[in-house]
Amino acid sequence: QAKARGRGCIQFFAPEMNRRAAERHELESDLRTAIAQDQLSLYFQPQIAPGTEQMIGAEALLRWHHPQKGLILPARFIPVAEDSGHLMVSIGNWVIEKACAQARAWLDAGYPPVRISVNVSIVQLRNKDFSIYVENLLQRYRLTPDLLQLELTESIIMSDIAGAAEQVRKIKDMGIHIAIDDFGTGYSSLSYLKDLPVHELKIDKSFVHNILTDVNSAAIVKAIIRMAQGLGLRVIAEGVENQEAMDFLIQNECEGAQGYFFGKPITPSAFEAQFFG
Ligand code: C2E
Ligand code: MG
Ligand code: MG
Ligand code: MG
Repeated sequence: QAKARGRGCIQFFAPEMNRRAAERHELESDLRTAIAQDQLSLYFQPQIAPGTEQMIGAEALLRWHHPQKGLILPARFIPVAEDSGHLMVSIGNWVIEKACAQARAWLDAGYPPVRISVNVSIVQLRNKDFSIYVENLLQRYRLTPDLLQLELTESIIMSDIAGAAEQVRKIKDMGIHIAIDDFGTGYSSLSYLKDLPVHELKIDKSFVHNILTDVNSAAIVKAIIRMAQGLGLRVIAEGVENQEAMDFLIQNECEGAQGYFFGKPITPSAFEAQFFG
């Protein structure tokens, strides 16, 4: 009896696992044609200086308009692309090129220069030619390197401290800015901060969301702001959703803020209308 029930459990889970594996497989094969069929696009979300409300940058966020499934968010397809490896390289390269093209288009339109932040996957950073690829793009689109910032997570850096450090240094030597994304949620080691030449810490939204309700989150946000100041790094809070969170950031002299309070990620033309209008 027990044995039968045990089997039953396995039978219960197996179809669910198969279904997920099948979905990933399907996404992966659809992703292969997504670039060629023009289904990927970059949305942009403003980054603001608390207090003055001046725009200090914009983050490029990837969107996939699937012909049957509709809009798919990166949390669902980036891991699939990363598993395949080369898919992530082609998508990641496409993202950086698209961001550079957008920066050039905005300059040509006469808008004030905006630093665009782009998320980078560990898979891209493992490629030894990554920094050369980026350097060529800056040349092709006639951009100064300070107009581009690459966002890396702590876990990327910690997973391969030596290799990543080498790539990060090359990128930094070119004058491109580096931000640590989701800061505070990766490994707890801070030692990389003294060795890695980064420019900015992005405080993870899980802390920012709880600023008002959880004293520990508030203390962590304050401590990260102080630490960034001490290290001479820029610091920006992600996930700012309301005036109260803004007030907290102003009070604690946080340099930057990004979140639904100022605007969700939107298409380039909507971004122009709303922030360059
Ligand atoms: P991330 O880089 O930490 O980006 C911030 C995420 O938080 C974005 O989700 C953004 O839409 C969301 N967000 C911004 N403000 C708020 C807010 O006030 N409240 C809440 N609840 N959320 C907010 P999104 O666009 O779904 O992207 C999720 C993650 O996917 C990104 O996290 C990043 O890790 C990854 N990703 C996005 N685009 C790319 C890309 O081009 N390449 C790579 N490798 N990863 C990407
Ligand atoms: Mg990011
Ligand atoms: Mg983040
Ligand atoms: Mg994230």
